[in-house]
Amino acid sequence: MEIQNNVALATYTSWLIGGPADHFCRPKDVEQLREAQSWARAKGLPITVLSGGSNVLISDQGVRGLVICLKDFAGTEMSVEGGRFRLTVKAGTGKSELLKIFLKEKLAPALFLAGIPGDVGGGVVMNAGVAEAMVPREFTEITEWIEVLKPDGSLKTYQHGELKWSYRHSSGWEPGIITRVGIQWPHRQDPSILEQVRAANKVRLSKQPLDMPSCGSVFVNPPGLKAAQLIDSSGLKGYTVGEAQVSTKHANFIVNLGAAKAQDIWSVIQHVKATVKSQKSVELQTEVVRMGDWA
Ligand SMILES: Cc1cc2nc3c(=O)[nH]c(=O)nc-3n(C[C@H](O)[C@H](O)[C@H](O)COP(=O)(O)OP(=O)(O)OC[C@H]3O[C@@H](n4cnc5c(N)ncnc54)[C@H](O)[C@@H]3O)c2cc1C
Repeated sequence: MEIQNNVALATYTSWLIGGPADHFCRPKDVEQLREAQSWARAKGLPITVLSGGSNVLISDQGVRGLVICLKDFAGTEMSVEGGRFRLTVKAGTGKSELLKIFLKEKLAPALFLAGIPGDVGGGVVMNAGVAEAMVPREFTEITEWIEVLKPDGSLKTYQHGELKWSYRHSSGWEPGIITRVGIQWPHRQDPSILEQVRAANKVRLSKQPLDMPSCGSVFVNPPGLKAAQLIDSSGLKGYTVGEAQVSTKHANFIVNLGAAKAQDIWSVIQHVKATVKSQKSVELQTEVVRMGDWA
């Protein structure tokens, strides 16, 4: 497997922002992942995992050490047994692939998956989900087990109940790299699922700036509150630093107007947090993960 040097990361992110990785590789299987781990360990370099890149803010200074990109680490196997639909999915498989499979099977998980970009492993890490009331609405509900490559090169499987799942977060599996995810759902078909997905997509398109680079919602909703409402009612829609802007369409999105720097986005985030704190006495927490050198 080729390990490249000085690779620009911006195009690997949904914000289209970020400096270079010192070293970069795209493993296809567990053997190549182990190879990448050993290579970094022998050189004493840190490892950063990048999957769909739809929830990360990568520094303008880039990422030191080895970035392992999971774009080529994809594939699915499916089975139906005892009325249960089961999939074994490699972590770098796009959620869009999962969506296609659930749509073909006319099963309910298609509805929440339609709203979330990125890959399946990233979906587990973030316990990705939607705010709308539906079943299922988060990754925890469809995940049966996960397999993790530990730093010593061993593979460990965790059952759902061994993990801790919370709002936009899972834990109990770290440290390591999620390699495969076991997904399950009752094989109870709903012929109207495609129509429901189409309707939900239409609503999303009308409410979210999906034509501009973003990472989706930047802040998690504080308990019982909506981050977007707090930001909007603090008068922050349209607030701009450089080419980073609080979306005029959805206040919890920060969009890249064209040539935004990571530092512009970070400045907007800091300003939004400070303004909401002073006007609403609420401490917003970021959902987006910062990566790389932020000296
Ligand atoms: C337009 C838009 C809309 C969005 N809407 C939603 C939404 O409705 N709901 C929602 O929850 N999210 C939403 N998101 C955010 C994002 O899509 C999710 O958080 C997604 O699950 C991130 O997956 P990813 O593969 O892109 O992860 P990445 O952004 O690549 O990584 C996220 C974090 O997970 C780690 N990671 C990723 N894969 C692995 C792995 N295999 N092993 C170990 N660590 C790993 C990374 O190191 C990083 O820390 C939206 C994003 C966009 C751009």
